[in-house]
Amino acid sequence: MSFKTLGLTDNLLKAVAQKGYTKPSVIQEKAIPLILKGKDILASAQTGTGKTAGFTLPILQLLEASKHQKYKPIRALILTPTRELAAQIQENIKEYSIFLDIKSMVIFGGVKPAKQIATLRQGVDILVATPGRLLDLENQKKLSLKRVEFLVLDEADRMLDMGFQRDINKILALLPKRRQNLLFSATFSKEIKKLASEFLDHPAMVEATPENSTVDKIIQKIYRTDKSNKAKLLIKLILDGNWQQVLVFTRTKHGANNLCKKIVKKGISAAAIHGNKSQGARTKALAGFKDGSIRVLVATDIAARGLDIPLLPQVINYELPNISEDYVHRIGRTGRAGANGEAISLVSSDELEYVKGIEKLLGYKLVSTVIEGFEPSLIQPENEKLKPKNSSRRNNNNTKPKNSNNRNFNRNKSRR
Ligand code: ADP
Ligand code: MG
Repeated sequence: MSFKTLGLTDNLLKAVAQKGYTKPSVIQEKAIPLILKGKDILASAQTGTGKTAGFTLPILQLLEASKHQKYKPIRALILTPTRELAAQIQENIKEYSIFLDIKSMVIFGGVKPAKQIATLRQGVDILVATPGRLLDLENQKKLSLKRVEFLVLDEADRMLDMGFQRDINKILALLPKRRQNLLFSATFSKEIKKLASEFLDHPAMVEATPENSTVDKIIQKIYRTDKSNKAKLLIKLILDGNWQQVLVFTRTKHGANNLCKKIVKKGISAAAIHGNKSQGARTKALAGFKDGSIRVLVATDIAARGLDIPLLPQVINYELPNISEDYVHRIGRTGRAGANGEAISLVSSDELEYVKGIEKLLGYKLVSTVIEGFEPSLIQPENEKLKPKNSSRRNNNNTKPKNSNNRNFNRNKSRR
């Protein structure tokens, strides 16, 4: 399957080639022809599966084909939960539309609106936005959504988790009734299904790889220790392993800041990324992490979600997430196609309950070990320290990759 056989025009094929994509990812292969046909879509796809091109390329094609006015009303609206994600999508759109006369822009909170308002005034075809700032500017009549033909909800599950349900409803009420809707979500909770039923019209269901076929290729380890010893243990792991690019997850913003300070104190370059940081600080931290000047990026789930960070050799759960699916998203950041991806969780006794939830989701037990000098002070029941009885399932899956297409795609990515 090539991009050409998906029915894309030459200007888009050129842009895709310029990005170095040789073939479509699974989600692109499935979604692009359906979107070109005008279908509503309900897609389940994790981070890193190439969703952005999956919805952007066909939207660009449809916009280009029906272009008429000199004046540019907003014809496509892309909603995303975080500013980073919004900025990233806009970057991609610019690249994919380089040979087209299509204007796109991004708006989000945390920066002064004046520049955004000025750009809006010049007319844009595609607007990428976080819900809050979008509603702000709509309220002030700085933009109109009355001519929107395409609506994309990216990372819809995360938007609901972040409490955007009401904002989404408000935005839906501002849009014309007739339009094409695309909803992307990593998980299909009851809430997502409800949201989907409220605004999608006979949607086609599209799925990228089942989660487990990717996760099972990652080496997952649990180090049991005390809460009070976690920072020390993490620093030891970084230094002993000479890790140069580590993504560390904490549960709270406060926890991210604290941990970051401790790491920096030991002379290891680190930055925290979370919702309370200014836009500038977040962009800088991410850039530093990508270019290697920052070795450790400490992030909360929300801040990290959807970020285009190359696949990493190590991902650390400094604290386990209380939502099991988040564990899968987090560890999906490590080398999915290769054997060198390692996801390490530092688990204190209060988190053992989360381990159970995660194991239930994965369908197998996780191996837990103890590092000398960092033993947990509370002796746990023997069976919690033993190797899992049921690790055969994991091995089976390891030797039986379900989706060769996606593996190739990921291999591409890890080489970048
Ligand atoms: P998602 O939104 O699913 O998390 P993105 O759209 O951000 O994924 O894409 C993840 C990365 O993969 C980006 O760096 C993007 O440029 C790259 N990518 C997208 N499609 C392809 C493709 N067909 N071949 C190779 N790389 C791709
Ligand atoms: Mg994305």
